[in-house]
Amino acid sequence: MASVRRHTLSADAADGVLPPDESSLDKGTGHSGEVLFATSHRIDRIPPLHKNATLQCRPRSVFAGWATFTCRQHRGQRLTNIFWTFSQGYTSVKALLLSEYKKLQVTEIPVPEIAPDEVLVQVRACGICGSDIHGWDGSSGRRIPPLVMGHEAAGVVAAVGRDVKGYAEGDRITFDSTVWCGKCRYCLGGRPNLCDNRMVLGVSCGDYRRYGCFAEYVNVPARICCHLPKNLSFEHAALIEAVSVAVHAANRTPVSLGDTAVVVGSGMIGLLVIQAIKQKGCSQVIATDLNDARLEVARKLGATTTINVGKEDAVARVKELTNGRGADVALEVVGSTATIRSAIDCTRKGGSVTIVGNLAPTIELPLQSVVTRELNIFGSCASSGEYPACVDLLASGMIRVEDMITATAPLEQGHDWFARLYDGESNAMKVVLCPSMD
Ligand SMILES: [Zn+2]
Ligand SMILES: [Zn+2]
Repeated sequence: MASVRRHTLSADAADGVLPPDESSLDKGTGHSGEVLFATSHRIDRIPPLHKNATLQCRPRSVFAGWATFTCRQHRGQRLTNIFWTFSQGYTSVKALLLSEYKKLQVTEIPVPEIAPDEVLVQVRACGICGSDIHGWDGSSGRRIPPLVMGHEAAGVVAAVGRDVKGYAEGDRITFDSTVWCGKCRYCLGGRPNLCDNRMVLGVSCGDYRRYGCFAEYVNVPARICCHLPKNLSFEHAALIEAVSVAVHAANRTPVSLGDTAVVVGSGMIGLLVIQAIKQKGCSQVIATDLNDARLEVARKLGATTTINVGKEDAVARVKELTNGRGADVALEVVGSTATIRSAIDCTRKGGSVTIVGNLAPTIELPLQSVVTRELNIFGSCASSGEYPACVDLLASGMIRVEDMITATAPLEQGHDWFARLYDGESNAMKVVLCPSMD
């Protein structure tokens, strides 16, 4: 059972409570004011013991807050004796736990501890990723319960570790889904997505288990964090991980101004790839999909032509749009034999195909078409230092994500949303869960 400790608000620092700021105590008429306090325990509730005083607490983080007080009895007198109670031992935070496959429940987990190089983040928004959906029934083998999933998040810094520089409590941030080590050959070579020691937040695959962001708080190394501007909402910022996948794919693809690109697959990532490759200078962006609703969004977001491959021959149409030549580049965002084949067939001699799709473990490759036409084939995985650029692209409106957000919901609706997405809710794209509200 949680024991209750009483703290006296006085000029002396008493057991975890900072001395109140005298100047703020003097603010007002003397019987009301505002103080900043800090405690080594999670703030549960702070009821006033003085029965005539009202006290309101506005947490600034798990461990500190502002308290506003008013006393109706002591008019004109200085209030120096307000009592606070803290529930000692209340050291847990709310989280959406995958307790067994296909079962998510809101529960309490210990407050994440931060290492000297880490920050504690109050998670304000976290997107449900396709990989979470493939994980929750056990099919991918990368979400072994018990696990808190979630790797597409944004929030507010609640506490910083001893060695952290550049971040402070209250900073609005997002962070990479991949925890890269910063020390291996690939990290040092500027390719942290290929890190030898990479761990993905919210993944447990047998080699490691790292709790993720469907929780009120999460700990992440400061090196993977990135500041957010004020005009970028947490919900939009939670899509930066997806944006970074698209921006990285565009960065992997050699494009000259005025080139033609084909984007095979117009789902969530495809719609971002369309925008990224257009921003890179393609004057013609041809989007393909089987779903007319998605193709409509593709047009809205900058695709110059859309092809429903269920109704039209994509290769013939692309040839028609490029004087019989084929597209300069194709980006494949599905990951199956048929779609990779389509990407290759749509590409001109000497052109490039970037593969982002990662669905099938193996596919059949039209070898002779690739070799005799000297195609460049690039794989593209996650992102590599593109987060700050993605923040700018979103904040400036050069890449837009609002059309991709199907719903935002509290953690309590997490299970239902997972079930709906798993059942293939039609036209659903990104669902963003908000573990802690304002
Ligand atoms: Zn993801
Ligand atoms: Zn590394």
